[in-house]
Amino acid sequence: MSNLSTQVIHSVPVDPFTGAVSVPIYQASTYVQEAPGINKGYDYSRSGNPTRSAVETLIADLEKGAVGTAFASGLAAIDAVIKLLSVGDEIIAVDDIYGGAFRLFTHVYKKLGISVRYVDTSVAENVLNAITPKTKLIWLETPTNPTLKVSDIEAISKIAKAHHALLCVDNTFASPALQLPLTLGADIVVHSATKYLGGHSDLIAGLVVTRDKELGDRIRFIQNASGSVLSPFDSWLLIRGIETLPIRIKQHCLNAQAVAEFLQGHPAVNKVFYPGLTDHFNHDVAARQARGFGGVVSFELKAYSPTAANAFVTSTKYFKLAESLGGVKSLLCLPALMTHLSIPEEIRKHSGVSGNLIRLSVGLEDADDLIQDLENAFAKIERKTATTRLTEASA
Ligand SMILES: *Cc1c(COP(=O)(O)O)cnc(C)c1O
Repeated sequence: MSNLSTQVIHSVPVDPFTGAVSVPIYQASTYVQEAPGINKGYDYSRSGNPTRSAVETLIADLEKGAVGTAFASGLAAIDAVIKLLSVGDEIIAVDDIYGGAFRLFTHVYKKLGISVRYVDTSVAENVLNAITPKTKLIWLETPTNPTLKVSDIEAISKIAKAHHALLCVDNTFASPALQLPLTLGADIVVHSATKYLGGHSDLIAGLVVTRDKELGDRIRFIQNASGSVLSPFDSWLLIRGIETLPIRIKQHCLNAQAVAEFLQGHPAVNKVFYPGLTDHFNHDVAARQARGFGGVVSFELKAYSPTAANAFVTSTKYFKLAESLGGVKSLLCLPALMTHLSIPEEIRKHSGVSGNLIRLSVGLEDADDLIQDLENAFAKIERKTATTRLTEASA
């Protein structure tokens, strides 16, 4: 990650008017014009705001794209990309897709005439086999949420190009500190900046970055027409978060690797999902296309009892039970009952999201404290299930 911290910290210039070291929060809706249509680059804050512009330039630089656009949430960013499509168009999407994207595709866009096919994109050939002349967009997340499925961006970008479809990568889990999809052939990157880019679990934001200017201008047009923009204050918070992204991600990766290796050796664990483990499917692809494996680790408990997973997620001290990820505090959740509840059970099970699957967002606490915390939770559920067994035996 050499030079990345320097780039990030210095790509936001000091304020030319006052020398302020942080970007001013331009809390204004409108801008005085010298004559009709003659202004200093801004006329109304839905169309553009200087604080938002600063974060948009920053993310475009980071992702090595032409145009960045900042939205009020990750889903608003995804929504803007789907609005590039027309009635009759098809999307091919990764089957282990973020629950909110699944809901948007299935319950909003399907009835507007845009259909989606879900395939296991970790095998690039599956994308090729699913493509039809109506396919206009291929939607990847890599790694995915919560099974950390890895897809080969470069191989799939070639398939997309050959069939005149756009490739969009939701880069939320890796972040640009680890993976640059636009340099691997993707056309569009989206982010839930709520996660690693913000980094402190204190804002909701979304970003779109396009490789070429023309596509970026279309996204900006859609944003101005539809109206979902990031507020000046949240733009400022997001800049502050991004400034420490490279250094945070480095530590997230170290902590997550340590946690994943601990879990892999634990007798109560059935399976660990982390791209940094050499036996993870497509570990080699992840190692080739990314500079690290990220901060999310999922694992499946051996089935003690139906309530073991529930007991586990309420037994930790540092890992807080909450949706979301990517902040300094470690979080854990039960995807089947929380983030992925909106996905029908058979699709969920098919993509490996069982009721025993626990997702960890490994934060920036000391790794040995986090491992001890998990160890304590394992001991607690072991005691609980032993008691249950005794009660059952005596009943
Ligand atoms: C959280 C998340 C989203 C949605 O972003 P919001 O900011 O919550 O709207 C999209 N994709 C992924 C991979 C996410 O984790």
